[in-house]
Amino acid sequence: MSFSSLGLDSHILTAIQEAGYTEPTPIQAAAIPTVIQGGDVIGIAQTGTGKTAAFTLPILTRLAANPIPQGQRRRTRVLVLAPTRELVAQIEENVLAYAKHLPLKIAKVYGGVGEKPQKDALRAGSDIVIACPGRLLDLMAQRCADFSQLEHLVLDEADRMLDMGFLPDIRRVINQLPKKRQTLMFSATLSKEIESLTHEFQHSPKIVQI
Ligand code: AMP
Repeated sequence: MSFSSLGLDSHILTAIQEAGYTEPTPIQAAAIPTVIQGGDVIGIAQTGTGKTAAFTLPILTRLAANPIPQGQRRRTRVLVLAPTRELVAQIEENVLAYAKHLPLKIAKVYGGVGEKPQKDALRAGSDIVIACPGRLLDLMAQRCADFSQLEHLVLDEADRMLDMGFLPDIRRVINQLPKKRQTLMFSATLSKEIESLTHEFQHSPKIVQI
């Protein structure tokens, strides 16, 4: 199996070659084609399996295939929710590497630091927002974020977000997103709680278990 057989955008293929990746990990091989086709996926995988690229590479491919026309205002097309500031930073690092040949803007949102730079980044317009749910809700309440045109939602480490008590915040965020969107969810385990999240937020997801 090679990356080039998965249908990824050529700019992204160049970036992963530059990152030194030679072949997709099992979760990437299983998830990428479905995500490119627009389907929902629930990925059951631990950290270290390549799950971040499994959702990022195909989403970037969809963004690149359908760029916002020149002159139109930049709008947020992707929201990634993650449990901790560290994970948000790690996801951003990955996205920046894979998107290095694409003209995309990325914003990070998390608590424990001043709101102002995050508000400014959201107001200026970002294609991709990577956020912890609590701080994101605060900024949404202040009307800093525009998710009216959102196309892709990712819940990363969903089991950890549930353990940390983020479910009410996640619900409040998702209730303000367009219903017509792709929703991807990643979790280390497929528990009853994760299954019920799937029923609540996804449409006939493909289960990818590594
Ligand atoms: P993750 O499971 O997303 O935390 O990724 C674990 C690590 O594997 C990260 O440092 C990635 O840069 C790296 N990685 C992801 N996909 C591949 C791949 N196909 N080949 C080599 N390394 C990879």
